[in-house]
Amino acid sequence: MKPTLRTGLVFLAILLFLSSCGSFPKKRTATVFAMNTVMDLTVYGNADALTAVESRIRELERLFSVTDENSELFAVNRDGGGEVSGETAALISASLALCGRTDGALDITVYPVVRAWGFTTDAFRVPSEEEIAELLGVVDYRRVALDENRVALPSGGALDLGSVAKGYTADCLTALLREAGVESALLNLGGNVQAIGTKPNGEGWRVAIRDPKGEGYVGVLTVSDRAVVTSGGYERYFERNGETYHHIIDPATGHPAKSGLSSVTVVASQGLLADALSTALSVMGLDRATEHWKQYRDFEAVFVAENGDLYLTEGLETVFSAQSPEAKVTVIRP
Ligand code: AMP
Ligand code: MG
Repeated sequence: MKPTLRTGLVFLAILLFLSSCGSFPKKRTATVFAMNTVMDLTVYGNADALTAVESRIRELERLFSVTDENSELFAVNRDGGGEVSGETAALISASLALCGRTDGALDITVYPVVRAWGFTTDAFRVPSEEEIAELLGVVDYRRVALDENRVALPSGGALDLGSVAKGYTADCLTALLREAGVESALLNLGGNVQAIGTKPNGEGWRVAIRDPKGEGYVGVLTVSDRAVVTSGGYERYFERNGETYHHIIDPATGHPAKSGLSSVTVVASQGLLADALSTALSVMGLDRATEHWKQYRDFEAVFVAENGDLYLTEGLETVFSAQSPEAKVTVIRP
């Protein structure tokens, strides 16, 4: 009796060992249309983890959408403020801090101007200088009062979280997947890429940077545990009388930013920071953006200039490979 039991237990232990060796997490993918973009999700783990990611995206979209009449943000903009959930308050609070850090190059109160240009409704138009001047009167993140969960806006003011919501969402999804035990995932939230861990084989994730002026790529970054977020006028624009007007607004002028950059890709450990900075550095232009990097050093960036030249901050030198051997690449050093 005794030997049989022992043999049985040993056999069971071997079986358990073998099954744990063989249970590589399964690749699961989904495509979701949310937050006005197509999201491609790849998760190595169980199916529940992917389902949880999808419902979390929907949940956050319902809070932060500026156009959904049932969102919390919509109510704040309609009523000039009000009580919001802890989650919305946390995002507004973190975003206001980033507006301060970028000296207003990022300004989440720019919404009245964004709306006047038609970027939220697709009813594109070029507002008059008088209209822009008047709207700029209420664009100032320092006039947003946030007291715990109560928001108050200046009269006529409105918030736009479009520059930060996907980055914040990526951070929430990273936390959710980590808690679910997922060690490997790539979440592409429409230009906001979040690389969780490495690929299952231990290699870094390869994230391509789009060519702002064509169909292809300017290069590829190989990263792990990083947010890679690109902003560029090419993502949303319209043309009138031979002029191109894009969706990244310089809060100082109320016009689409003319900074000499076609796109900015920010690499950071946090999605929110990367998202906020990719927008802000697009407004700043290369010189101010370089100064910002030298001052903070908590992110790296790839800049694509309007003439096609590439600039990378030093930390990306070994992880970026340019698509074209002819590309002019300059490394920015401290
Ligand atoms: P992103 O794609 O992250 O660069 O965000 C761009 C979106 O943020 C635009 O479509 C606008 O809704 C909004 N936006 C434009 N300019 C600014 C700005 N200077 N600061 C904050 N949000 C902005
Ligand atoms: Mg952004």
